Amino acid sequence: MSEKFTGSFTQQDPIPEAGIEAALAVLRHGRLHRYNTAEGEISETALLEQEFAAYVGAKYCLAVASGGYAMGTALRALGVKPGDKVLSNAFTLAPVPGAIASVGAEPVFVGVTESLTIDLEDLQAKIGQADVLLLSHMRGHICDMDRLMAICDRAGVKVIEDCAHTMGAAWKEVPSGRFGAVGCYSCQTYKHVNSGEGGFLVTDDSDIAARAVMMSGSYMLYERHLAAPPREAFETIRYETPNISGRMDNLRAAILRPQVADLDAQCRRWNERYYTLEKGLRDTPGLQVIDRPAQETIVGSSIQFLLRNWPADAVRDVVARCAARGVELKWFGAPEPVAFTSRYDSWRYAKPAAMPATDRILAGVVDMRVPLTFSLEDCALISEIIRAEVGLVYQKAA
Ligand SMILES: *Cc1c(COP(=O)(O)O)cnc(C)c1O
Repeated sequence: MSEKFTGSFTQQDPIPEAGIEAALAVLRHGRLHRYNTAEGEISETALLEQEFAAYVGAKYCLAVASGGYAMGTALRALGVKPGDKVLSNAFTLAPVPGAIASVGAEPVFVGVTESLTIDLEDLQAKIGQADVLLLSHMRGHICDMDRLMAICDRAGVKVIEDCAHTMGAAWKEVPSGRFGAVGCYSCQTYKHVNSGEGGFLVTDDSDIAARAVMMSGSYMLYERHLAAPPREAFETIRYETPNISGRMDNLRAAILRPQVADLDAQCRRWNERYYTLEKGLRDTPGLQVIDRPAQETIVGSSIQFLLRNWPADAVRDVVARCAARGVELKWFGAPEPVAFTSRYDSWRYAKPAAMPATDRILAGVVDMRVPLTFSLEDCALISEIIRAEVGLVYQKAA
Protein backbone atom coordinates (compact mmCIF):
# COMPACT_ATOMS: atom_id res chain seq x y z
CA MET A 1 0.00 0.00 0.00
CA SER A 2 1.52 3.35 -0.93
CA GLU A 3 -1.47 5.70 -1.11
CA LYS A 4 -0.44 9.28 -0.37
CA PHE A 5 -2.18 11.96 1.63
CA THR A 6 -2.22 15.27 -0.24
CA GLY A 7 -3.93 17.63 2.25
CA SER A 8 -2.23 20.50 4.11
CA PHE A 9 -1.32 20.23 7.78
CA THR A 10 -1.23 23.99 8.17
CA GLN A 11 -4.47 25.04 6.43
CA GLN A 12 -7.10 26.29 8.87
CA ASP A 13 -10.78 26.92 8.31
CA PRO A 14 -11.65 30.30 6.76
CA ILE A 15 -12.89 33.07 9.08
CA PRO A 16 -16.69 32.71 9.47
CA GLU A 17 -18.72 35.03 7.22
CA ALA A 18 -20.10 36.84 10.28
CA GLY A 19 -16.51 37.65 11.30
CA ILE A 20 -15.63 38.88 7.81
CA GLU A 21 -18.73 41.13 7.79
CA ALA A 22 -17.92 42.51 11.25
CA ALA A 23 -14.29 43.10 10.25
CA LEU A 24 -15.40 45.00 7.14
CA ALA A 25 -17.65 47.20 9.28
CA VAL A 26 -14.66 48.06 11.52
CA LEU A 27 -12.51 48.79 8.46
CA ARG A 28 -15.24 51.02 7.02
CA HIS A 29 -15.66 53.14 10.16
CA GLY A 30 -11.93 53.13 10.84
CA ARG A 31 -12.11 52.98 14.65
CA LEU A 32 -9.65 50.12 15.12
CA HIS A 33 -8.13 51.20 18.43
CA ARG A 34 -10.16 49.70 21.26
CA TYR A 35 -10.70 53.04 23.00
CA ASN A 36 -11.63 54.87 19.80
CA THR A 37 -15.41 54.69 20.08
CA ALA A 38 -18.21 56.88 18.77
CA GLU A 39 -20.71 58.43 21.20
CA GLY A 40 -22.56 55.58 22.94
CA GLU A 41 -20.63 52.88 21.05
CA ILE A 42 -19.22 49.83 22.85
CA SER A 43 -16.06 48.52 21.18
CA GLU A 44 -15.80 45.08 19.61
CA THR A 45 -12.90 44.40 22.00
CA ALA A 46 -14.96 45.17 25.11
CA LEU A 47 -17.80 42.96 23.83
CA LEU A 48 -15.38 40.13 23.02
CA GLU A 49 -13.98 40.27 26.58
CA GLN A 50 -17.47 40.14 28.05
CA GLU A 51 -18.37 37.15 25.85
CA PHE A 52 -15.17 35.22 26.58
CA ALA A 53 -15.52 35.85 30.34
CA ALA A 54 -19.03 34.40 30.14
CA TYR A 55 -17.80 31.45 28.05
CA VAL A 56 -15.30 30.32 30.72
CA GLY A 57 -17.30 31.63 33.68
CA ALA A 58 -14.66 34.16 34.82
CA LYS A 59 -15.36 37.48 36.52
CA TYR A 60 -12.77 39.36 34.48
CA CYS A 61 -11.27 39.04 31.03
CA LEU A 62 -8.68 41.11 29.18
CA ALA A 63 -8.01 40.67 25.45
CA VAL A 64 -4.37 41.26 24.50
CA ALA A 65 -1.89 41.12 21.64
CA SER A 66 -0.77 37.47 22.06
CA GLY A 67 -0.83 34.45 24.32
CA GLY A 68 2.79 35.14 25.23
CA TYR A 69 1.86 38.68 26.25
CA ALA A 70 -0.98 37.31 28.42
CA MET A 71 1.47 35.04 30.27
CA GLY A 72 4.06 37.79 30.77
CA THR A 73 1.34 40.10 32.06
CA ALA A 74 0.02 37.42 34.42
CA LEU A 75 3.52 36.91 35.86
CA ARG A 76 3.95 40.67 36.39
CA ALA A 77 0.48 41.00 37.88
CA LEU A 78 1.39 38.28 40.41
CA GLY A 79 4.46 40.27 41.37
CA VAL A 80 7.16 38.08 39.78
CA LYS A 81 10.39 40.07 39.72
CA PRO A 82 13.76 39.82 37.97
CA GLY A 83 15.81 37.00 39.48
CA ASP A 84 12.76 35.14 40.85
CA LYS A 85 12.33 31.50 39.97
CA VAL A 86 9.14 30.28 38.28
CA LEU A 87 8.15 26.62 38.03
CA SER A 88 7.06 25.45 34.58
CA ASN A 89 6.80 22.41 32.31
CA ALA A 90 9.85 20.93 30.59
CA PHE A 91 7.45 19.68 27.90
CA THR A 92 6.03 22.85 26.39
CA LEU A 93 6.76 25.36 23.63
CA ALA A 94 9.12 28.32 23.52
CA PRO A 95 6.64 31.13 24.42
CA VAL A 96 6.26 29.64 27.92
CA PRO A 97 9.88 29.86 29.18
CA GLY A 98 10.07 33.00 27.01
CA ALA A 99 7.32 34.67 29.06
CA ILE A 100 9.26 33.86 32.24
CA ALA A 101 12.47 35.27 30.73
CA SER A 102 10.56 38.38 29.58
CA VAL A 103 10.15 39.46 33.21
CA GLY A 104 13.77 38.62 34.03
CA ALA A 105 12.79 35.52 36.00
CA GLU A 106 14.25 32.02 35.66
CA PRO A 107 12.31 28.88 34.79
CA VAL A 108 12.65 25.79 36.98
CA PHE A 109 11.57 22.97 34.69
CA VAL A 110 9.33 20.18 35.96
CA GLY A 111 9.33 16.79 34.20
CA VAL A 112 6.72 15.11 32.03
CA THR A 113 4.92 11.78 32.47
CA GLU A 114 3.98 9.20 29.84
CA SER A 115 0.50 10.77 29.83
CA LEU A 116 2.30 13.92 28.57
CA THR A 117 1.21 15.89 31.64
CA ILE A 118 3.38 17.56 34.28
CA ASP A 119 5.02 15.07 36.65
CA LEU A 120 3.34 15.77 39.99
CA GLU A 121 6.03 13.91 41.97
CA ASP A 122 8.68 16.12 40.44
CA LEU A 123 6.49 19.18 41.07
CA GLN A 124 6.15 18.20 44.73
CA ALA A 125 9.92 17.79 44.97
CA LYS A 126 10.58 21.25 43.48
CA ILE A 127 7.61 23.17 44.92
CA GLY A 128 9.72 24.99 47.52
CA GLN A 129 11.85 26.68 44.86
CA ALA A 130 9.30 29.25 43.64
CA ASP A 131 6.13 31.18 44.48
CA VAL A 132 4.53 30.75 41.05
CA LEU A 133 3.87 27.84 38.68
CA LEU A 134 3.28 28.66 35.01
CA LEU A 135 1.46 25.43 34.10
CA SER A 136 1.30 24.59 30.41
CA HIS A 137 -1.51 22.27 29.32
CA MET A 138 0.81 21.25 26.52
CA ARG A 139 -0.88 19.74 23.46
CA GLY A 140 -4.16 19.76 25.37
CA HIS A 141 -3.18 17.20 28.02
CA ILE A 142 -4.62 18.18 31.41
CA CYS A 143 -3.09 16.66 34.54
CA ASP A 144 -5.03 15.72 37.69
CA MET A 145 -5.96 19.31 38.53
CA ASP A 146 -7.24 18.45 42.01
CA ARG A 147 -3.87 16.98 42.98
CA LEU A 148 -1.94 19.78 41.31
CA MET A 149 -3.93 22.50 43.06
CA ALA A 150 -3.58 20.68 46.41
CA ILE A 151 0.22 20.58 46.01
CA CYS A 152 0.36 24.27 45.05
CA ASP A 153 -2.16 25.49 47.63
CA ARG A 154 -0.35 23.67 50.43
CA ALA A 155 2.91 25.36 49.43
CA GLY A 156 1.30 28.77 48.83
CA VAL A 157 2.32 28.63 45.16
CA LYS A 158 0.14 30.64 42.77
CA VAL A 159 -0.81 28.98 39.48
CA ILE A 160 -1.01 30.58 36.03
CA GLU A 161 -2.51 28.26 33.42
CA ASP A 162 -1.24 28.35 29.85
CA CYS A 163 -4.35 27.27 27.93
CA ALA A 164 -2.99 27.86 24.42
CA HIS A 165 -3.99 24.26 23.57
CA THR A 166 -6.99 23.88 25.88
CA MET A 167 -9.41 26.67 24.97
CA GLY A 168 -12.74 24.82 25.18
CA ALA A 169 -11.32 21.93 27.26
CA ALA A 170 -12.14 21.07 30.88
CA TRP A 171 -11.20 18.91 33.87
CA LYS A 172 -14.24 17.49 35.71
CA GLU A 173 -16.35 20.01 33.75
CA VAL A 174 -14.40 23.00 35.08
CA PRO A 175 -13.00 24.91 32.08
CA SER A 176 -9.26 24.86 31.69
CA GLY A 177 -7.94 28.23 32.90
CA ARG A 178 -10.30 28.35 35.90
CA PHE A 179 -8.21 26.44 38.44
CA GLY A 180 -5.30 28.81 38.93
CA ALA A 181 -5.21 32.51 39.78
CA VAL A 182 -5.01 33.39 36.08
CA GLY A 183 -5.82 31.60 32.82
CA CYS A 184 -4.03 32.62 29.58
CA TYR A 185 -5.16 31.77 26.05
CA SER A 186 -3.85 32.36 22.54
CA CYS A 187 -5.87 33.43 19.47
CA GLN A 188 -2.97 32.80 17.13
CA THR A 189 -3.74 31.07 13.81
CA TYR A 190 -2.77 27.56 14.94
CA LYS A 191 -4.88 27.60 18.13
CA HIS A 192 -8.64 27.16 18.64
CA VAL A 193 -9.74 30.60 17.48
CA ASN A 194 -7.86 32.53 14.81
CA SER A 195 -7.19 36.25 14.59
CA GLY A 196 -3.64 35.81 13.32
CA GLU A 197 -2.31 36.99 16.69
CA GLY A 198 -4.08 37.66 19.96
CA GLY A 199 -4.72 36.36 23.46
CA PHE A 200 -6.87 36.47 26.59
CA LEU A 201 -6.18 36.63 30.28
CA VAL A 202 -8.98 35.65 32.71
CA THR A 203 -9.14 35.86 36.50
CA ASP A 204 -11.56 36.32 39.39
CA ASP A 205 -9.09 38.49 41.30
CA SER A 206 -9.87 42.20 40.99
CA ASP A 207 -6.30 43.33 41.83
CA ILE A 208 -4.75 41.05 39.20
CA ALA A 209 -7.35 42.13 36.65
CA ALA A 210 -6.85 45.84 37.37
CA ARG A 211 -3.06 45.55 37.11
CA ALA A 212 -3.33 43.61 33.86
CA VAL A 213 -5.71 46.17 32.35
CA MET A 214 -3.38 49.05 33.28
CA MET A 215 -0.31 47.19 32.00
CA SER A 216 -1.96 46.36 28.68
CA GLY A 217 -2.23 50.09 28.00
CA SER A 218 -5.63 51.31 29.15
CA TYR A 219 -4.31 54.72 30.30
CA MET A 220 -7.22 56.05 32.39
CA LEU A 221 -9.85 54.58 30.07
CA TYR A 222 -10.40 51.35 32.01
CA GLU A 223 -14.05 52.19 32.62
CA ARG A 224 -14.72 51.46 28.97
CA HIS A 225 -14.23 47.76 29.68
CA LEU A 226 -17.19 45.46 30.28
CA ALA A 227 -15.20 42.63 31.89
CA ALA A 228 -12.84 44.64 34.14
CA PRO A 229 -13.27 45.29 37.88
CA PRO A 230 -15.08 48.44 39.06
CA ARG A 231 -13.38 51.85 39.36
CA GLU A 232 -12.45 51.32 43.03
CA ALA A 233 -10.09 48.49 42.07
CA PHE A 234 -7.97 51.00 40.12
CA GLU A 235 -7.75 53.61 42.85
CA THR A 236 -4.07 53.12 43.69
CA ILE A 237 -3.14 50.55 41.04
CA ARG A 238 -3.52 53.15 38.31
CA TYR A 239 -0.64 55.17 39.75
CA GLU A 240 1.59 52.18 40.51
CA THR A 241 1.35 50.15 37.32
CA PRO A 242 3.52 50.73 34.25
CA ASN A 243 2.01 50.75 30.76
CA ILE A 244 3.50 47.88 28.74
CA SER A 245 1.32 48.22 25.66
CA GLY A 246 -0.19 44.98 24.39
CA ARG A 247 -3.82 45.75 23.66
CA MET A 248 -6.08 43.89 21.28
CA ASP A 249 -7.68 45.97 18.52
CA ASN A 250 -11.26 46.07 17.24
CA LEU A 251 -10.45 44.41 13.91
CA ARG A 252 -9.19 41.24 15.52
CA ALA A 253 -11.96 41.33 18.13
CA ALA A 254 -14.54 41.54 15.33
CA ILE A 255 -13.04 38.44 13.69
CA LEU A 256 -12.98 36.58 17.01
CA ARG A 257 -16.48 37.18 18.38
CA PRO A 258 -18.29 34.76 16.04
CA GLN A 259 -15.51 32.21 16.60
CA VAL A 260 -15.99 32.29 20.36
CA ALA A 261 -19.72 31.80 19.75
CA ASP A 262 -18.92 28.73 17.56
CA LEU A 263 -16.19 27.33 19.77
CA ASP A 264 -18.05 24.37 21.27
CA ALA A 265 -19.24 23.21 17.84
CA GLN A 266 -15.68 23.51 16.48
CA CYS A 267 -14.35 21.51 19.45
CA ARG A 268 -16.79 18.72 18.61
CA ARG A 269 -15.48 18.71 15.03
CA TRP A 270 -11.89 18.46 16.32
CA ASN A 271 -12.83 15.55 18.54
CA GLU A 272 -14.51 13.60 15.72
CA ARG A 273 -11.24 13.87 13.83
CA TYR A 274 -9.13 13.06 16.88
CA TYR A 275 -11.07 9.92 17.77
CA THR A 276 -11.04 8.74 14.14
CA LEU A 277 -7.25 9.02 14.20
CA GLU A 278 -6.95 7.43 17.63
CA LYS A 279 -9.12 4.49 16.61
CA GLY A 280 -6.97 3.97 13.52
CA LEU A 281 -3.76 4.01 15.55
CA ARG A 282 -4.85 1.85 18.47
CA ASP A 283 -3.25 -1.61 18.74
CA THR A 284 -0.47 -0.80 16.29
CA PRO A 285 2.47 -2.94 17.46
CA GLY A 286 5.24 -0.75 18.90
CA LEU A 287 2.99 2.34 19.10
CA GLN A 288 1.40 3.57 22.33
CA VAL A 289 -1.71 5.72 22.11
CA ILE A 290 -2.09 8.29 24.93
CA ASP A 291 -5.20 7.25 26.88
CA ARG A 292 -7.21 10.27 27.96
CA PRO A 293 -8.61 10.28 31.51
CA ALA A 294 -12.41 10.20 31.90
CA GLN A 295 -12.29 13.48 33.88
CA GLU A 296 -10.87 15.32 30.89
CA THR A 297 -13.01 17.10 28.26
CA ILE A 298 -10.57 17.22 25.40
CA VAL A 299 -10.17 19.39 22.31
CA GLY A 300 -8.39 17.14 19.82
CA SER A 301 -6.67 19.81 17.74
CA SER A 302 -3.51 17.69 17.74
CA ILE A 303 -2.68 14.07 18.50
CA GLN A 304 0.39 12.47 20.09
CA PHE A 305 1.62 8.91 20.39
CA LEU A 306 4.68 7.25 21.92
CA LEU A 307 7.27 5.10 20.20
CA ARG A 308 8.55 3.95 23.57
CA ASN A 309 12.21 3.01 23.87
CA TRP A 310 12.66 3.10 20.11
CA PRO A 311 16.16 3.84 18.83
CA ALA A 312 16.41 7.39 17.49
CA ASP A 313 17.17 6.20 13.95
CA ALA A 314 14.01 4.12 13.84
CA VAL A 315 11.86 7.08 14.93
CA ARG A 316 13.58 9.23 12.29
CA ASP A 317 12.80 6.54 9.73
CA VAL A 318 9.08 6.59 10.65
CA VAL A 319 8.93 10.39 10.39
CA ALA A 320 10.69 10.32 6.99
CA ARG A 321 8.51 7.51 5.60
CA CYS A 322 5.31 9.21 6.72
CA ALA A 323 6.53 12.53 5.24
CA ALA A 324 7.14 10.76 1.93
CA ARG A 325 3.47 9.77 2.01
CA GLY A 326 2.29 13.29 2.82
CA VAL A 327 1.88 12.88 6.61
CA GLU A 328 3.71 15.50 8.65
CA LEU A 329 4.78 14.22 12.04
CA LYS A 330 6.84 16.10 14.59
CA TRP A 331 9.27 14.34 16.86
CA PHE A 332 9.94 15.90 20.25
CA GLY A 333 13.03 13.76 20.73
CA ALA A 334 15.00 15.40 17.93
CA PRO A 335 18.25 16.84 19.30
CA GLU A 336 17.92 20.06 17.26
CA PRO A 337 14.78 22.24 17.42
CA VAL A 338 12.80 22.15 14.15
CA ALA A 339 9.95 24.48 13.13
CA PHE A 340 7.57 24.86 16.12
CA THR A 341 9.02 21.82 17.90
CA SER A 342 11.47 22.60 20.66
CA ARG A 343 12.82 21.00 23.78
CA TYR A 344 13.69 22.37 27.19
CA ASP A 345 17.41 21.80 26.59
CA SER A 346 17.34 24.04 23.52
CA TRP A 347 16.38 27.03 25.73
CA ARG A 348 19.96 27.57 26.81
CA TYR A 349 19.29 31.05 28.21
CA ALA A 350 17.30 29.28 30.95
CA LYS A 351 20.30 27.10 31.89
CA PRO A 352 18.17 23.94 32.15
CA ALA A 353 19.42 21.12 34.37
CA ALA A 354 19.57 17.67 32.76
CA MET A 355 16.33 15.67 33.14
CA PRO A 356 17.05 12.07 32.11
CA ALA A 357 13.56 10.70 32.92
CA THR A 358 11.94 13.42 30.83
CA ASP A 359 14.47 12.88 28.02
CA ARG A 360 13.52 9.20 27.89
CA ILE A 361 9.85 10.11 27.38
CA LEU A 362 10.47 12.96 24.92
CA ALA A 363 12.64 10.59 22.87
CA GLY A 364 9.46 8.71 21.97
CA VAL A 365 6.92 11.54 21.60
CA VAL A 366 5.51 11.97 18.10
CA ASP A 367 3.04 14.75 17.44
CA MET A 368 0.65 15.66 14.65
CA ARG A 369 -1.60 18.65 14.02
CA VAL A 370 -5.28 18.02 13.26
CA PRO A 371 -6.59 20.98 11.26
CA LEU A 372 -10.36 21.20 10.82
CA THR A 373 -9.90 21.23 7.05
CA PHE A 374 -9.23 17.45 7.29
CA SER A 375 -12.28 15.28 6.59
CA LEU A 376 -12.94 12.14 8.65
CA GLU A 377 -11.86 10.13 5.56
CA ASP A 378 -8.58 12.07 5.56
CA CYS A 379 -8.09 11.12 9.21
CA ALA A 380 -8.77 7.45 8.48
CA LEU A 381 -6.24 7.51 5.62
CA ILE A 382 -3.61 9.30 7.74
CA SER A 383 -3.92 6.75 10.53
CA GLU A 384 -3.60 3.91 7.98
CA ILE A 385 -0.42 5.45 6.64
CA ILE A 386 1.10 5.88 10.11
CA ARG A 387 0.07 2.38 11.09
CA ALA A 388 1.64 0.86 7.98
CA GLU A 389 4.91 2.78 8.24
CA VAL A 390 5.30 2.24 12.00
CA GLY A 391 4.59 -1.44 11.37
CA LEU A 392 7.27 -1.71 8.68
CA VAL A 393 9.98 -0.01 10.71
CA TYR A 394 9.04 -1.93 13.86
CA GLN A 395 9.31 -5.29 12.04
CA LYS A 396 12.65 -4.32 10.57
CA ALA A 397 14.00 -3.35 13.98
CA ALA A 398 12.68 -6.48 15.72
C1 LIG B 1 1.12 29.22 20.97
C2 LIG B 1 1.45 28.95 22.36
C3 LIG B 1 1.44 29.96 23.34
C4 LIG B 1 1.16 31.42 23.09
O1 LIG B 1 1.45 31.80 21.85
P1 LIG B 1 1.32 33.21 21.15
O2 LIG B 1 1.87 32.87 19.80
O3 LIG B 1 2.14 34.16 21.92
O4 LIG B 1 -0.12 33.61 21.11
C5 LIG B 1 1.67 29.59 24.63
N1 LIG B 1 1.92 28.32 24.98
C6 LIG B 1 1.95 27.33 24.08
C7 LIG B 1 2.19 25.94 24.56
C8 LIG B 1 1.73 27.60 22.74
O5 LIG B 1 1.77 26.62 21.84
